[in-house]
Amino acid sequence: MTRFVPTIGLEVHCQLRTASKLFSPCPFVRGAPANAVTDAYTWGLPGTLPVLNVEAVALALRLAVALGCEVAGESGWDRKHYFYPDLPKGYQITQRERPLARGGALAVPDPAAGPWATREVALERIHLEEDAGKVVGGGIDYNRAGAPLVEVVTAPVIRDAAEAARVLRALRFLLVRLGVSDATMEEGSLRCDVNVSLAEPGAPRSGVRCEIKNLNSFKFTLQAVAAEVERQEGLLSAGGRVAPVTLRFDPDRGAVQVMRVKEEALDYRWLPEPDLPPLVIEAAAVAAARAGLPDMPEQTRARYRALALEPAEAALL
Ligand code: ADP
Ligand code: MG
Repeated sequence: MTRFVPTIGLEVHCQLRTASKLFSPCPFVRGAPANAVTDAYTWGLPGTLPVLNVEAVALALRLAVALGCEVAGESGWDRKHYFYPDLPKGYQITQRERPLARGGALAVPDPAAGPWATREVALERIHLEEDAGKVVGGGIDYNRAGAPLVEVVTAPVIRDAAEAARVLRALRFLLVRLGVSDATMEEGSLRCDVNVSLAEPGAPRSGVRCEIKNLNSFKFTLQAVAAEVERQEGLLSAGGRVAPVTLRFDPDRGAVQVMRVKEEALDYRWLPEPDLPPLVIEAAAVAAARAGLPDMPEQTRARYRALALEPAEAALL
C-alpha cells in the first residue's frame, strides 16, 4: 500500500481520417511504400507555403463539440522548433497559444463506482497539429510528415494506471464512432504521452511531473504508468526527489527509461506562424457540427441498459 497519491494527465495524438495532409494537397495514405506519398511541402523545400486542409478542421471540430469543449471563434498557429531528421522544415506547426477548443470532458467507465457508472474526465484543450515523419532503420520515411493530428489534452485528474487505459479506450471508442480517426494504436493512428506525479495525501501542491512519450498500446500505457508510479515511489520513499524528466517505455523490459531532462518552452523557440492566417470558426459551423453528431457512447449505453442488457454485453455491442 502506497503513501503517495498519483496524479495523471494524458496528451493523446489522433490521426485524422482525411484524404490529404494538414497543410498540403499531398495525399495521406497509411501503409504506402516508404516516401511514396510526399510532396515539396512535405520535404520542407524552400518556397513552399502551408494551406490549411478544411476537412481536418471539420473532423477536429466534430470531436470538440462531441466532447462539449468550448470552440474558439478564432484560433492560431505557432511554430515549435526542434532538430530531428524526421522534421525536414525544422519546426512543427501546432496551436499552442490559441487552441481550437478548451474545456470539455470525456465520460469514462468507472467500474469501482458501479457496473454502469461513468466519470467525467475533464479536458484542458484540443488542438490541431502536423505529424512528423518516421526514422526507420537507417533511413527516413516522410509519408507521415505533415499528416493531420488532433491532440486531446486531459486535465491532471486521472487516478491510476488502469483509469489511464480506460480514458484511452473511451476516447478511441468515441473517435471511431464519430468517424474522426481510425484510432488504431497498433498502426500509430492513436498515440499517447502520459504525465505522472506523486504527492502525499492532502498535500497542498502537486508533485513533480514526469512525462512518458509515445505509448502505442493500451497495455503499454497501463504498464508504463504503473512502472512510473513505482519508480517515483521508490525515489520519494528513500527520501529522494523526483527530477522532471522525459521517459520512454521499454516494452521488452516492462520498464521506463529516462531519455532527457524535461524540455522547457525556451528549448522550442516558439514563434507565431507567419504563413497562416488565424483559423476562424463561425458559430453557425459549430452549431452545424453539433447538429450532425450521432448518439454519444454513454447514450448508447443507457439505451442498452434500458433493454436490461448486462454491462459486459453492452460493452461488447
Ligand atoms: P508539456 O508541453 O510540458 O507536456 P502540456 O501543457 O502539453 O505540457 O501538457 C500538460 C499535461 O500534463 C496535461 O496532460 C496535464 O494533465 C498534465 N499535468 C499537469 N500537471 C500535472 C501533474 N501535477 N501531475 C501529472 N500530470 C500533470
Ligand atoms: Mg507533453
